[in-house]
Amino acid sequence: MKSHDQLLDAYAELTVKSGLNVRTGQQVLISAPLEAVDLVRRITLHAYRAGATLVTTLYGDEATTLMRFKEGSDASFDAAPTWLFNGMAEAFRDGNCARLAIIGDDPSLLSAIDTDIVSRSNRARSKAYKPVIELITGFVTNWCVISCATPQLAKSVFPKDAPDVALAKLWAAIFKCTRADLPDPVKAWEEHTANLHARTAKLNAKRYASLKYKGPGTDFTLGLVDDHVWAGGASTARNGILCNPNIPSEEVFTMPHRERADGIVRSTKPLSYQGAMIEGIEVRFEKGRIVEGRATKGEDVFKKMIATDDGAARLGEVALVPHSSPISASGIVFNETLYDENAASHIAVGQAYSQNMKDVEKLTADEKLARGMNTSLIHVDWMIGSGELDIDGITRDGTAEPLMRKGEWVD
Ligand code: ZN
Ligand code: ZN
Repeated sequence: MKSHDQLLDAYAELTVKSGLNVRTGQQVLISAPLEAVDLVRRITLHAYRAGATLVTTLYGDEATTLMRFKEGSDASFDAAPTWLFNGMAEAFRDGNCARLAIIGDDPSLLSAIDTDIVSRSNRARSKAYKPVIELITGFVTNWCVISCATPQLAKSVFPKDAPDVALAKLWAAIFKCTRADLPDPVKAWEEHTANLHARTAKLNAKRYASLKYKGPGTDFTLGLVDDHVWAGGASTARNGILCNPNIPSEEVFTMPHRERADGIVRSTKPLSYQGAMIEGIEVRFEKGRIVEGRATKGEDVFKKMIATDDGAARLGEVALVPHSSPISASGIVFNETLYDENAASHIAVGQAYSQNMKDVEKLTADEKLARGMNTSLIHVDWMIGSGELDIDGITRDGTAEPLMRKGEWVD
């Protein structure tokens, strides 16, 4: 049996080799919470061994984040480090700097803070971050998002356990869900990727016009853009490097048409959105737009989120995940979208991913919009899948073909 240090090292190596696939001569930019320093050091070591020329890490500190909301002047909530994000965009633009985001934040950090100032500061940040997010969603460089077990996240996932027990449990879950506990994690990811690619090939051959969902609280039809592309698992970035943008990842996903969603949808898992928890979301779509929405918890935050801009109340992603995925099987709610979105089929409001539309780089912004590609400052996934959800693929001549029954692939 591997020790914690060995598992952490295997996880770091997996991140560098399968997640980012760092190429000789590339720089690497990491963002991470302070508490992830042990993991960051191991990742840095593996990145240099893989030939990285420079690894730069930006650490975030939740205590200082809280200070801003408690002590900052009113002008603070409209401020953003535009200069930093412009620099990041410059780093990624030529594909010579890989991007790693390590997350492990306290999902309730800002729950006691006035939602107005939180959403104002989120808006200012999203606006300043736009040049970066466009390059990342446009897959200009190789990138990856992973999670780190931190005391604050562990406490929210396992509130009844002592801090050291909660942290150990969260690490064990992370190593299992990422396959870092297997004898050869890099090979395990190659096999997993092959399975996901077989699924996307099948769906791409079908060219469905829409998907129809039926489950408790959900009766919903979602139109796909005509030139949609199903993606999942490893993707080749425009700099030619094959990377796994999310570890773990169990989803196959594509682009909904921004004007073609109708019916009611109910969320099946809690959603952590920028420091607040949102639960029990119920919305009604009309012609692609959320026209009615409520939530049993965090409704105020949810309503502000979908009011961010016009595209925030429309869909930018649809993803299918079998109910038997390892993350769902763990039975743990991670209070973190990276994990929870891979436990269940989901939809995302906000920005769509370019890789989900054919020949997108040849289109102007107006043409993309006309073809149904959504645009927004936000991209927020929320889970609608469960063991009770049925999904049909509707062909272009209107025939319904069963895709998933009780949350599992039909074939
Ligand atoms: Zn997704
Ligand atoms: Zn998403």
